[in-house]
Amino acid sequence: MNSTTVVKDPVCGMDVEAATAAGRTEHKGHTYYFCGSMCKEKFDLSPEQYLGKSVGTAKSDHGCCS
Ligand SMILES: [Zn+2]
Repeated sequence: MNSTTVVKDPVCGMDVEAATAAGRTEHKGHTYYFCGSMCKEKFDLSPEQYLGKSVGTAKSDHGCCS
């Protein structure tokens, strides 16, 4: 089998292979992979902080309009 799934470490933004990821955790039914245990620990402490960042939905940093 040569199916390599590359996912993004939500903490540091690095690309990691799911099969060889140093850490993984499940959050709300989704599995996240990490480059190392440090990133995993950070994510476990405050997953929302890292999930809200990359997905640009309903978040406005500046209130100049609307
Ligand atoms: Zn990382």
